[in-house]
Amino acid sequence: MYNKNAWGKYDSPKEIMDFAEGYKAFISKGKTEREVVKQAIALAELRGFKDIYSFNRLHAGDKVYVTNKNKNFAAFIIGKEPVCNGLRVLGAHIDSPRLDVKSNPLYENTDFALLDTHYYGGIKKYQWVTVPLAIYGVVCKKDGTTVEIALGDKPEDPVFGISDLLVHLSADQMAKPGVKVIEGEDLDLTIGSMPLKGVDDKPVKANILKLLKDSYGIEEEDFLSAELEIVPAGPARDYGLDRSMVAGYGHDDRSCAYTSLMAILDSGVNEYTSCAVLVDKEEVGSIGATGAQSKWFENVVARLIALQGDYSDLKVRNAFELTKMLSSDVSAAYDPLYASVNEAKNSAYFGNGICLNKYTGRAGKAGCNDANPEYIAEIRAYFDANNINFQFSELGKVDAGGGGTIAYILGNYNMNVIDAGIAVLNMHAPMEIVSKVDLYEAYRAYKVFVSIE
Ligand code: MN
Ligand code: MN
Repeated sequence: MYNKNAWGKYDSPKEIMDFAEGYKAFISKGKTEREVVKQAIALAELRGFKDIYSFNRLHAGDKVYVTNKNKNFAAFIIGKEPVCNGLRVLGAHIDSPRLDVKSNPLYENTDFALLDTHYYGGIKKYQWVTVPLAIYGVVCKKDGTTVEIALGDKPEDPVFGISDLLVHLSADQMAKPGVKVIEGEDLDLTIGSMPLKGVDDKPVKANILKLLKDSYGIEEEDFLSAELEIVPAGPARDYGLDRSMVAGYGHDDRSCAYTSLMAILDSGVNEYTSCAVLVDKEEVGSIGATGAQSKWFENVVARLIALQGDYSDLKVRNAFELTKMLSSDVSAAYDPLYASVNEAKNSAYFGNGICLNKYTGRAGKAGCNDANPEYIAEIRAYFDANNINFQFSELGKVDAGGGGTIAYILGNYNMNVIDAGIAVLNMHAPMEIVSKVDLYEAYRAYKVFVSIE
């Protein structure tokens, strides 16, 4: 069903609401890519998926998962056709905009201890001050051990935050353009204000270092090999009197990651090998070992083919060329308060189901993956045949701005790929919003997609 509100299709909203509960739990715990990977492993193992390294040989119906550097995850159900005849892939990213702690972060200034940060991804910096924040990540020590940090989400935890100027003294600040209201170097996290007794030089910092030493065995230099991410504190919540929406951090792109993952975990064996792959670093260009541009996923598919006892380089290339993929990434929801940035006929509306983008990009479609109409027709036909609500949109009106996804990267393998995901309001803000029925329609659509023959 094209461009229709999906709620009316359901006699009762119960199955939609129930599905959203699972999602809320997932994003409330999954505040970073590492935390999402941990949950993905647990959910997959509950459903009988096994680590790829436990297989000597792969057969139709085998349920396999793979991880990479604690930041990538892929789940496969081996199809009736051999892997070299192509896969049905759902690809989502599990990194979200946030603040990362710098390598030399800790300092004391006027009786405060602070952590210096460097923002990650595209943010409106003014949105990240005066909101409760949590710290997640790892500190890797020289002795080879890793300390995990997760502070700010348990009820008994402290929270952290970034200060903003009181309105009484903000005349100059309020006259600045939005990009200058809060500057990147001012996004420093307040973490303490109590001096260590008997210390004269930077006693507040000394007290924080003592706490880190006592609680975690961490020295100041250990920040050099840490990866600590500052994210909004608190769980995802129902949004709206009718509870039709979810407010939470990281819907971009964990709403599509969860729905893609669950579509695979809840699927049976299909004609072709079905896959949900979760990648990192999309918000900064999909680069590096854990981004979509990494060779990792290609290597995994090569390994699957080898485990079917029939490896050749050409078979790996063929597998990619014959693969059909949805780039499961979110779309910008139409916001009636900011209607002017959209073109109404080609916008993504809450409740209207999974949102497809033939292309993204900016200006004259620069940097886009422009999906082939032959492929789009095939997907439309499957969605219609399975009563899936879907819509087609662009990221804002022409020349209003733009953005990209991982679609073009997989397109480089000559596979058919199109963006298909969930409409998000307040994208990249500490509190993003999605519609529960869109979540559910995306899940249903992804399940249908991996069954395409
Ligand atoms: Mn995204
Ligand atoms: Mn994004």
